[in-house]
Amino acid sequence: MENCVFCKIVAGEIPSAKIVETEDVLAFLDIAPVNPGHTLIIPIRHFETLWDLPEDIALTLTRAIRKISKAIMAATKADGLNVGMNNLRAAGQLVPHAHFHLIPRFAGDGLDHWPGKAYKNVEEMNLVAADVRRALG
Ligand code: 5GP
Ligand code: ZN
Repeated sequence: MENCVFCKIVAGEIPSAKIVETEDVLAFLDIAPVNPGHTLIIPIRHFETLWDLPEDIALTLTRAIRKISKAIMAATKADGLNVGMNNLRAAGQLVPHAHFHLIPRFAGDGLDHWPGKAYKNVEEMNLVAADVRRALG
């Protein structure tokens, strides 16, 4: 995909600190880490979001996430680790090549949980659940 920064990293046109590279998956350090060791895991082929990924690639990525998470925890001596994925611009996706963030976390590192909002009442919550169930088909 032309002009995709992560496709350029895959192609070796942009340098990166690689952790693992296979036929389907690449893991490399985020250039602007939340904490040192912050790693991005991407499919080699260009897909935009989680739901664009073919199921076998999603499974391969999940296996890599589990394995590399343990290695990051050990290497950075982290106290915890966030796995995150931004899908589409409104959710904060700046690079439109699907990627998972693996972020080592340290007690007292000052990062907050995302803010939670309340539903107006239990009926509103049940309506939202029904909408999603309907969309599932
Ligand atoms: P997003 O907001 O799309 O979920 O996250 C994109 C991430 O890619 C950001 O955390 C950003 O620091 C990282 N990033 C953007 N450009 C580059 C790059 O050229 N090299 C590396 N290693 N990371 C990048
Ligand atoms: Zn791409």
